[in-house]
Formats: sequence, C-alpha cells, structure tokens
Amino acid sequence: MRVVVTGGAGFIGSHYVRQALTGAYDSLADAQIVVLDSLTYAGNEQNLAPVKDSPRLEFVRGDIRDVELVREVLRGADAVVHFAAESHVDRSIVGAAEFVSTNVLGTQTLLQAALETEVGRFVHVSTDEVYGSIEHGSWPEDHPLEPNSPYSASKASSDLLARAYFRTHGLPVCITRCSNNYGPYQYPEKVIPLFVTNLLNGKRVPLYGDGGNVRDWLHVDDHCRGIQLVLDRGRPGEIYNIGGGTELTNKELTGLLLEAVGADWDMVEYVPDRKGHDRRYSVDITKISTELGYRPAVPFTEGLADTVRWYKDNRSWWEPLRKRAGLDE
Ligand code: NAD
Repeated sequence: MRVVVTGGAGFIGSHYVRQALTGAYDSLADAQIVVLDSLTYAGNEQNLAPVKDSPRLEFVRGDIRDVELVREVLRGADAVVHFAAESHVDRSIVGAAEFVSTNVLGTQTLLQAALETEVGRFVHVSTDEVYGSIEHGSWPEDHPLEPNSPYSASKASSDLLARAYFRTHGLPVCITRCSNNYGPYQYPEKVIPLFVTNLLNGKRVPLYGDGGNVRDWLHVDDHCRGIQLVLDRGRPGEIYNIGGGTELTNKELTGLLLEAVGADWDMVEYVPDRKGHDRRYSVDITKISTELGYRPAVPFTEGLADTVRWYKDNRSWWEPLRKRAGLDE
C-alpha cells in the first residue's frame, strides 16, 4: 500500500507519519508513506527525524499547487491524506492570498490528480472553523458553513471542492472537521506552544480580548487516530467531525499553562481582540463515535502536562523557530 501524506512535515501531518511508521495503525503496518511537503515556515524536516531512517518513508519536497509534480507523486498511490495548508488565522488576517492559493487551488490540484490517477481513498483534513461560531450546543456535520476568517473561508472552499469531486466525479473522498489540536512539535505561533515557550523564556503572554473565547481541545494523537478510522472505514462522500471533549475559555487555558510552568497572572498581557474572532467552537462527534467507534483517549490534563514537558525538554527544536519568527533575539 502506498499512502501520500501532504503536509507531512507540519505539526499534525508529522504526528500522523510518525505514528504510521511506528506501527500505530494496523492497516498501514507495511505501507509506504510518501510525504509531499514544500517546507514552508511551518514545515520542518526535524519533525520527521524520529522516523527518518525508516525504509517505508519517502520524502518529496514539492508544492501541492504543482500540477505535474502532484500527478507524478500520486501515480500508483492507494490513498491520500491531505493535511497541507496555510493554517494560522492571524497570518490570514494580515494577508489572505497565500491561503486562497494553497488551500483552495492546492486542494483542487490534488483532487484533480487523484481523479486522474484513480486514487482509491482521499481524506481531506478540514477544520471546525468552517462552521463559524456557535453560542450554545454543538455543530452536526450538516450544519451550514459560515466561516468568518480568511483562513476558515479558504478551508471551507477546499472542503466544498472535496465534496464536489465526490458528487460530480465519484472520487472517494471523506472530509474530517476537527477542533483545536495540541501536542508536541506544534509551531510556536499557535496559542499553547506560544504561551509555553514565552513563559519558559520569561516573557509575558498575549491574551486576546476578554479571554472568554471558547475552544474544544483535541490531542493530536486522538485527531490522527480519528483520521485513520476515517481512512480505514469512512464512507466515501461523508463528513466526520472529530473533537476532544474539553471546552475551555482562553482564560481558563492560560491559567492552566501558567500553573504548569509555575508563573503568575502578572505574566499575562491583555491585547486587543483578534479581528472577527470566533467566540466559540463546538463539534458534535456522535457520527464518528457511532459509525467508527471513535473516542478521544488522551485526558486533557495528562495531555497538556506531557505537552508542556515536551516543550521544556526540547528547546533545541523550538528556539531556532522562535528566532527565525522574530520572537526572540
Ligand atoms: P502546519 O501549519 O503545522 O503544517 C502545514 C504543513 O503544510 C507544513 O509542513 C507546510 O510546509 C505544508 N505546506 C503548506 N503549504 C504547502 C504547499 N503549498 N505545498 C506543500 N506543502 C505545503 O499545520 P497543522 O496545524 O499541522 O494543520 C494540518 C491540517 O489540519 C491543515 O489542513 C489545517 O487546516 C488542519 N487543522 C489544523 C488544526 C490545528 O489545531 N492545528 C485544527 C483543525 C484543522
């Protein structure tokens, strides 16, 4: 079996690849894993260092918008798991063009190549942000899409293209929409690694608005297990929400991170709210639970403690990234 993993050098994609190559997923025990990643600022070959010597890993540095290359990489592939994207909301507010180009055009390029090369399975990794913001209750998969940021709008577009390739051409696509991921190897611009690494460097942390925005937290390992269930047994053309079951306000999350690092509230700086900031995300995971037996397995307190420990123990991974991003001298 040959599985192409786009964005496999990023945070979630690299976790999926490390797990696939170390026996976590039975159906991929002998699979050849081909990572297709252009190594943007968010992509990092170091994320694959633990499995770099695996004879089952092939790394192709390339862009998902490159029609010829994508067709070549997908030829002979049995499945595609599509993670590659521009993924940071704040960057999409400063400049949306790259988000539209990579997330929309890149996804269409992959879908078209998958169709032409007759790939048997395609999992498109989307996000709960495509639903917009919800005050009460949780979104089922058939809720209308009402994205509010250029990032989520570009993801909604790619999500709809994936659906259209199933409806129009019968391409066997499944779509997953997950909540906020956390875990090791997450680029230090996202809230948990940013706050932890700031605090470890004695810097204050920027808390948006009143800190009351609510997010559902999902450990990256649970997310990747959910994706694998969908790859193995998801019904073509279907959408599956994947959630973690731990909803916290950003203020509550900040309190837990301060405690984990041994810092006080005077390390928190309230900053003006993000433009168009969604108030609350919450996915209903009934469908993936009943159809595919998914259940988040990592308790949040444990997962968060392990994650903070990982950042404490792996300065050599994040220090160069923070320097390059201008966060530290
Ligand atoms: P990330 O930013 O850490 O990684 C993205 C990867 O894609 C990087 O390795 C980058 O080099 C690669 N990439 C970007 N543009 C590319 C291009 N044009 N061609 C080839 N490769 C390219 O992202 P992540 O947090 O690992 O997210 C992975 C996927 O999951 C994304 O599709 C994202 O929208 C989705 N998602 C993430 C979260 C989260 O909490 N991180 C939540 C919901 C959904």
